[in-house]
Amino acid sequence: MSCSRNSLFSPAYLSISLGLLAFSLQLSSEVLAQQHQVKDYTLYDKQTILDSLRLLYPKQVTPSEVLHELPALLALGHYPQLANNSIKIKYKKNVRYPITASYAFTNVFRFRKKHKYILLIKPGSFVDRINLNQQVALIGHEMAHFVYYRKRPAIGMIPWAFSYVFSKKFRRNFEREADYFAIDQGLGWQYLEMSIYLSKTEVVDYIRKTGLYGY
Ligand SMILES: [Zn+2]
Repeated sequence: MSCSRNSLFSPAYLSISLGLLAFSLQLSSEVLAQQHQVKDYTLYDKQTILDSLRLLYPKQVTPSEVLHELPALLALGHYPQLANNSIKIKYKKNVRYPITASYAFTNVFRFRKKHKYILLIKPGSFVDRINLNQQVALIGHEMAHFVYYRKRPAIGMIPWAFSYVFSKKFRRNFEREADYFAIDQGLGWQYLEMSIYLSKTEVVDYIRKTGLYGY
């Protein structure tokens, strides 16, 4: 959070045009302060929002100019706790799942705030075809995993990986918790369009329960 706010006052930021500045201030306040209010990201002008978010998060999402850069930046706007981490989008054909929040075991040697995370995406899957709001929900779900990884000591990832692979019940709970967490982070509207592990009814019930969405 602090990084993003500070960036509003950096020389690079101030050098941009007034129009973009006004838009960016509006965007940053929407994304960072009123995360629960953004109903539909498809209504924004993609290039303007992308330029704006690249200024807010200049190094956090790499590489730029890839298909999922924008939804990743938008999802990141819902996770101020990841604002100083770097997220690498990696495309790989021979992977089991269309999208995975991959844990880099080299993080063992890094401070938590310097952790690197990999968003592994299978090209040509449904992830390419769903709309922007749905992509933000999906990537937001993966970012919930990054927050989980960030909280755990690296050594704790070994029993976690074991449980995830061998216990269906653990895996199911872990994934559902990630959905609830993403909704807590303000992705409820996006989840209404793209429920992932929770059913649509469970999403609606939870959104109502939070009382944050006026739904
Ligand atoms: Zn997941």
